[in-house]
Amino acid sequence: MVAITKYKYAKRIGVSKMTVTRRTATNVLLDTALKNFYGAAEEMGLDENLIAILGSSERRLEVSVPVEMDDGSIRIFRGYRVQHSTAIGPAKGGIRYHPEVDVDECEALAMLMTWKCSLAGIPYGGGKGGICCDPLTMSMKEKERMSRAFAARIAPIIGTWQDVPAPDVNTGGQEMVWFVDTISKLRGHLEPGVFTGKPIPYWGSMGRTAATGYGVATCGLELLRVLDKDPKNATVAIQGFGNVGSYTALTMVEAGAKVVAISDVTGTYYAPKGIDIKKAFEHISTHPKKLLEGFTCDGCEKKNLDDILFVECDILYPCALDGVINVKNAGDVKAKYIVEGANGPVTPDADEILTKKGVLIVPDFLANSGGVIGSYFEWAQNLSGYFWTEEEYNKRLIHIMKGNFKLVWDYSQNSSVPMRRAAFMAAIQRVADVVKLRGVFL
Ligand code: NAD
Repeated sequence: MVAITKYKYAKRIGVSKMTVTRRTATNVLLDTALKNFYGAAEEMGLDENLIAILGSSERRLEVSVPVEMDDGSIRIFRGYRVQHSTAIGPAKGGIRYHPEVDVDECEALAMLMTWKCSLAGIPYGGGKGGICCDPLTMSMKEKERMSRAFAARIAPIIGTWQDVPAPDVNTGGQEMVWFVDTISKLRGHLEPGVFTGKPIPYWGSMGRTAATGYGVATCGLELLRVLDKDPKNATVAIQGFGNVGSYTALTMVEAGAKVVAISDVTGTYYAPKGIDIKKAFEHISTHPKKLLEGFTCDGCEKKNLDDILFVECDILYPCALDGVINVKNAGDVKAKYIVEGANGPVTPDADEILTKKGVLIVPDFLANSGGVIGSYFEWAQNLSGYFWTEEEYNKRLIHIMKGNFKLVWDYSQNSSVPMRRAAFMAAIQRVADVVKLRGVFL
């Protein structure tokens, strides 16, 4: 449920007797997204009409998704697609299969995608969608029928130049193939650019697997560079050794840094003289569940799961879950800098504590934007029908990530605000500028 409240803020930003419509929501995620937006917009002194436009989503679509189950019964699932903004370009954002998916959650995530794409400097707006279902209890055939029915239902509002969804929780390459195939059949021609995150043999892109981790590591290296620190003297701890964490670790080691601790669900692996990261990567590559379980190296000591967060180091990369650094443990963090690989690993309360302690934080929607930049690369290749090499992909990715880091760093220095607030402000500014240029029509 979304409530509308009137909020007087004219005095605060020094304009005449105007009021701006502010939305609040009972959904915590949406309420937080709105508060973050209004807070940053006010601090920037953004025009109240622009605040009203960007505080609302362009479209919230709800569809029914009828599926014939394997036992012959018919079940109706609820599906959603929200387009928060298409001011800059087609909406972009994942499709999630989860029992807790609802339209407000989709809207919150769609809004975050608008800012993420804007900050990344790629020509997209923000969207998000999903189906309220429990995919873990469904057969492949049931999931295929559900995916195809959903794609057909949202077909009128998606397209290469309209809205380009991608994988999210519980969806991946297989679902993207079903989606593209369904849309292409409906339209009577192949449309590979309508979804990204496809497998390499079916219009996917080389380089995507490592993209997020490369980007996360690049932000850490850029931070060291602007602080005039040599990566060869830097020590690093990485929570989570999955897709994002492992490629972050490999990139940091390549740059000469010493990774002193890594962790996954099986615990923390700590070696003050440095961990052999290539060996750890080979270990997870051959482990049946891709875990560090049983990993050893010279001088390596096994510690408790959460000990990774309290390791003495220069950079801590939380690359596992949201909310891991919170009000209860933020005071014990010893890292000088935190670069957020996961989405939302530092809670707002913890952020305040850490900022007061002088810990510099590179926010998630800057640090882990390599994933969405990779989606943009896949789309660009699909549009031209010409595939890049992995080297071309990585070179372009690193170039963009460095530019984006600089944008946020400079904004933060010039406006004397922490990097998270600076990232929001820079992102909102770019969208607002385009809305102003285009004027109000739709
Ligand atoms: P993944 O499943 O490949 O890896 C997650 C890792 O975290 C695993 O090693 C797992 O064992 C570990 N882990 C889980 N719980 C833990 C705990 N309590 N303590 C320590 N380690 C724990 O996932 P991923 O793709 O690497 O994503 C990690 C995070 O990054 C998520 O928040 C995700 O939303 C975010 N993210 C990922 C991408 C991407 O492209 N993969 C892009 C943007 C953001």
